[in-house]
Amino acid sequence: FTVLAIESSADDTCAAIVDSSRKIHANVVMKQHDIHEEFGGIYPMSAIGTHQSNMPYAVRKALDDAGFDIVRDIDGIAFTRGPSQPNLLFFYNGLTHKPGMPGCLSVGMNAAKSLAAALNKPLVGVHHMQGHALTPLLTSWPDVPRFPFLTLLISGGHTLLLLATSVRSFQILATARDESIGRSFDKVSKLLKLKWTALGPGDALEKFCAEEDEAEPPPIPPFPRPLVGKLAYSFSALHSHVNLILDSFGEVESLDKPTKRAIARAFQSAAVDQLEEKLILGLELCKQKGISVQDIVVSGGVASNQYLRQRLRQCLVDFSPETPYSFIFPPVHLCTDNAVMISWASMHRFLANDTDPYSIELRPKWSIEEL
Ligand code: ATP
Ligand code: FE
Repeated sequence: FTVLAIESSADDTCAAIVDSSRKIHANVVMKQHDIHEEFGGIYPMSAIGTHQSNMPYAVRKALDDAGFDIVRDIDGIAFTRGPSQPNLLFFYNGLTHKPGMPGCLSVGMNAAKSLAAALNKPLVGVHHMQGHALTPLLTSWPDVPRFPFLTLLISGGHTLLLLATSVRSFQILATARDESIGRSFDKVSKLLKLKWTALGPGDALEKFCAEEDEAEPPPIPPFPRPLVGKLAYSFSALHSHVNLILDSFGEVESLDKPTKRAIARAFQSAAVDQLEEKLILGLELCKQKGISVQDIVVSGGVASNQYLRQRLRQCLVDFSPETPYSFIFPPVHLCTDNAVMISWASMHRFLANDTDPYSIELRPKWSIEEL
């Protein structure tokens, strides 16, 4: 069974083709970051406009890359149905434009519905975070995570620790009380005035931290450890702390590189501290409940961070040297948004003949517990 999927929930316009034997025939990701860097964030009206102009080309390119004819070679059409990001306009003059983000989703949905209806092919609407969560079942074959497994989803809109018991049953063990980890990476990167890389401001922060300096940096005031002992995340406290440090150190422009880098590193480390603490709490909770977890999936855009991967691996070795927990990270290019994950997350539904009507609507508010 071969699926053509479309994803347009945030700022990338994506189309991909994947089949049920796990072959990825095409993966097209059209980035918009140049436009958004100019605004200092994702401005929804411009994101919608860019999706509208890019979407036909993304679909055409996916078919061309695969060498497929849509009528003959595609069996089903999938798209991202929800949820939409509540606060995507993260720092556009302090204004929020909440209605914009379902607008992004609807560009992809309308393309998918029209294609499916015109071609008389089955249609499936996918939960975006289920896509991130199930990616390793595609990419780590044959060493795929074994149910039940823990999933840490760290992305631009979410910080979720989930217990996955099947491809469509997820229980939320911990979620963000305020902003997501990805958003706080973005904000700190912006506060430090780092130049975005192709993967955005969070990736720029990681790259900046990894460079070496000659000079010794000054000591950085220790970061808060929010919600210690609780299964919940808070990242706005960390980026606020960077604000306080910058207030006391002076203008960013006047700081030397080693000082800026020390602030960035201290933030990155504090962010990972929090992930580690909650992960251990989650594992302990599963143990108490008699749920035997062996695998831990870490996915979403922030999971492409190599420093974070290394710290999490080490943390589990220290926590439980005898228990061989295995971490499963998707390849970096499938951690950030893509339509491969949407194709794959739709596959079990196509195979079970559990498809959606062409009248299906978006679901901008949609908990992953309600799949
Ligand atoms: P969601 O999946 O919650 O709807 P999204 O789709 O916008 O949000 P993703 O594409 O999964 O999010 O991830 C984007 C986020 O990942 C951004 O916040 C980005 O800064 C962050 N990110 C990407 N690469 C890195 C990195 N190397 N280190 C830290 N953060 C990163
Ligand atoms: Fe995402």
